[in-house]
Amino acid sequence: MSAVPLRNNKAAASAARTVTVLGATGSIGDSTMDLLRGDRARYQVEALTANGNVEGLAKLAREFGARFAAVADPTKLGALKEALAGTRTECGAGESAIIEAAARPADWVMAAVSGAAGLKPALAAVDRGAAVALANKECLVCAGDFFMQRAAKAGACILPADSEHNALFQALSSGNRDELVRVIITASGGPFRTWTSTDIEQATLAQALKHPNWSMGQKITIDSASMMNKGLEVIEASYLFALTPDEIDVLVHPQSIIHGMVEFSDRSVVAQLGAPDMRIPIAHCLGWPDRIVGPSARLDLAKIGQLTFEAPDFERFPGLRLAYDALRASGGLTTVFNAANEVAVAAFIAGKIRFGAIARLVEATMNDWVRSGNLAPLSSADDAISVDHNARNKAASLLPQIALKAS
Ligand code: NDP
Repeated sequence: MSAVPLRNNKAAASAARTVTVLGATGSIGDSTMDLLRGDRARYQVEALTANGNVEGLAKLAREFGARFAAVADPTKLGALKEALAGTRTECGAGESAIIEAAARPADWVMAAVSGAAGLKPALAAVDRGAAVALANKECLVCAGDFFMQRAAKAGACILPADSEHNALFQALSSGNRDELVRVIITASGGPFRTWTSTDIEQATLAQALKHPNWSMGQKITIDSASMMNKGLEVIEASYLFALTPDEIDVLVHPQSIIHGMVEFSDRSVVAQLGAPDMRIPIAHCLGWPDRIVGPSARLDLAKIGQLTFEAPDFERFPGLRLAYDALRASGGLTTVFNAANEVAVAAFIAGKIRFGAIARLVEATMNDWVRSGNLAPLSSADDAISVDHNARNKAASLLPQIALKAS
C-alpha cells in the first residue's frame, strides 16, 4: 500500500486538529504558521521547532500557545526557557528534543527542517502514523525507499508539500497507476535560465539568491539557480509516487504557474495551476482530505497573458543530469548526491568555490563513490545517515582540488 493517499480513500475531515511544525522559523514554517493563523479555532499547536532562532521560535510559541518548543542547538535551552518564562510551553533542546517534538501526539505534522537533519524527526512522526506534510525533500532523497516503506507500514499518510509534487498528487487522482504514462515537473529555470555557461560559472551569491518567482530559504534558492533543486525533486517524485526515472520529465516554465502535469494513456495531460505561493500546496496538505479557504491571491491568467515552455538544458545545468544518474544507480547514490550538494552550497556561500564548481564537486564525489563500489541499498535511517556522513567527508576532502580547478 502506498503511503501517499489516493482519491478514493478519503477519510472524514475532523473539525479540530493538533498540529506540529518542524522548522517553524523557516520559509515553509512561516507560510504554514500563516495558514494556521487563518483558523485559530481549528488548530491546536502541539510542538514547534527551530535550529537556533530562539527569538523567532519563542514568539511563535507564545502566539500559538504551543505545548512544546524545541531548538536543535543544545546550547540554547537556557535562552529558550528564558524567552518562554511565564508561559505553559515546555522547552527542549538538542536533536533528541526535535525528535521528541515530532513524536508527540499531533494529528498533522509539517516536516520543514532544511537538509538531511530533518530525516530522523520526520521518521518519528511517520512511525506513529501521523499525517505528514513533507516539504523536507532530503528525507526522500537520502532514504526514499526506506522512508516510504516505513510510512506504509505505520499507516502514515504522506502529503506532498513541495509545489511540484503537490501538483502531481492532485493530478494523479485523475487516473489509475496502470494508465499513467509520465509525470512532468516544471522548473522556473531560476535566475540563470538564459545565461551562458561562462557567466553561470562566475555567478555571485547575490545573483544566485535572486529567484525570479519564488521567495524561499537560502539553500533552496541556490539549488534553484543551479537546478540541483529540480534534480532533488526528480528523485523525490520517484520515491513518493514509485516512478522510474524514465517516467519523470522536467519542463522549464519561466512563469511558475503550472507546477506539475500527469500524462495518461489516452494522451490526456492533467495539470495543476496556481500562483507561485507555497501557501497553496501547504493549504492543500493542511485541508486534506478537504479543501480549506486559502489566503493566496486568485490566479488571473488573462493578466499573466502567456505561459511558455522550454526543454531543460542538461549541459548548462549539469546538476539535473547528475540527479538522473544518481537515481538510475540507486543504492545510496542519491544520498551522496544530496550530501555533496549540501557541502558544495555551503562552500559557495562561504566564498570558497565558484558557483560552477557546485556541480563539479557533486560529480567528483559521486564518481568516487561509484569507484568504491559501495552501492548496497539502504535499509535503515542509520544507514542513510552514515552514507550521508561519509559522503560529506568525501566531498569536503575533494573541495580544495575542485576550488583550484577552473571550468
Ligand atoms: P529555511 O532555511 O527557511 O528554514 C529551515 C528551518 O529548519 C528553520 O526553522 C531552521 O531553524 C530549521 N533547521 C535548520 N537546520 C536545522 C537542524 N539541523 N535541526 C533542526 N532544525 C533545523 O528552509 P525552507 O523553509 O526554505 O525549506 C525547508 C525544507 O522545505 C527544505 O527541505 C526545502 O528543500 C523544502 N522546500 C522549501 C520550499 C520553499 O519554498 N522554501 C519549497 C519546497 C520545499 P532556524 O530558523 O533556527 O535556522
